Amino acid sequence: MKTLPGSTIGMLGGGQLGRMFTIAARSMGYEVIVLDPDPDSPAGKLATDHVCANYSDQTAIDYMAKTCDVVTTEFENVPASSLETLAASCPVRPGAQAVTITQDRIHEKSFLRDNGFPTAPFAVIRNQSDLEPGLEVVQAPAILKVSRFGYDGKGQYGIDSASDLDHAWQALQANDSVLEQRVPLDREVSVVLARGTDGQTITYPVAENVHQNGILDVSMVPARIDSSVAEQVVSMATRIANALDYIGVMAVEFFISNGKLLVNEIAPRPHNSGHYTLDATVTSQFEQQVRAVCGLSLGETRLLSPVVMVNLIGDLWQDNTPPAWEALLSHANAKLHLYGKREARPGRKMGHYNVLAPKLEDAVKLAADIKSQLK
Ligand code: ATP
Ligand code: MG
Repeated sequence: MKTLPGSTIGMLGGGQLGRMFTIAARSMGYEVIVLDPDPDSPAGKLATDHVCANYSDQTAIDYMAKTCDVVTTEFENVPASSLETLAASCPVRPGAQAVTITQDRIHEKSFLRDNGFPTAPFAVIRNQSDLEPGLEVVQAPAILKVSRFGYDGKGQYGIDSASDLDHAWQALQANDSVLEQRVPLDREVSVVLARGTDGQTITYPVAENVHQNGILDVSMVPARIDSSVAEQVVSMATRIANALDYIGVMAVEFFISNGKLLVNEIAPRPHNSGHYTLDATVTSQFEQQVRAVCGLSLGETRLLSPVVMVNLIGDLWQDNTPPAWEALLSHANAKLHLYGKREARPGRKMGHYNVLAPKLEDAVKLAADIKSQLK
């Protein structure tokens, strides 16, 4: 059944991804109710209604269940029990099963391994005594990554030798973790895709990503990789979506290591590396999320122009003063997107901009020039 404009979509999570979804949905004529405990939620400000409560708050979940025609999420850490409660009254897309796998690195990596998708060598760590045998399998250098609630490189600890293990374990507060080999990176790429209620899938052009301090800095599209590698990325991501029986928009991050593709992680939602689609593809990833979760047919993903996306991190704000936007806005092919966050903090994603140019290398250069002028 299709959920048509005029209906109400519930959004679990009210950060920037929820905000850009809300903009797309409302401009298509849907009502959006955001559930997020932050009174200053970026999405809540633009939604029809903002329910300010925790994701496990029974009254809030009951209200969402009663009011919404369909529910989706921008935040993979919603408790599965809340998704299951909601699913008793309305479609929840993606479903609890896909979210449960992707919100937990141990489940996610095991799912990938069990289904034959290549990953960096890893070991599951549940107790301190798993660390040394784990490192023997994985081999240093490695990274200890907390299994749940990590993002933007948080909850990760570098391991150069066995003597780092105990300290890392304490730093991660003895939580379930994955110990992963640190692999050499030729490049990092990612792909956003959508899978509809009928199982039809559509992928976006592959993005090439550069990180700074564990946080995405720049995405370039099209990625500077062989078309045969891009085809493998698309085929692997599509097979992952099918194996998860996924409905909605998702992204898969890959490492290219010694010429070989490895799956890094799966995001059960639109992705930062897909923000270029707001200005450079026929259908943005957020409109696509509306289409997929509402059971509509999927929109075209064709790239209209080479594009570079640059994240605007809180460090650019000096004493909470925004950068001089004129340096960006004076360029006719630079597109500013700000998330309406009141407080700028180091490492906090405040916004991004897209730069379009007929040649990718020109977009890369202009994007870097603008960045240096904003500093
Ligand atoms: P996000 O959710 O923001 O993508 P995250 O906190 O889940 O980030 P990861 O994607 O696991 O973190 O890692 C962040 C970055 O750290 C990667 O994009 C990559 O640059 C680097 N990294 C992580 N794991 C490895 C590895 N095994 N080998 C080499 N580099 C790695
Ligand atoms: Mg990542």
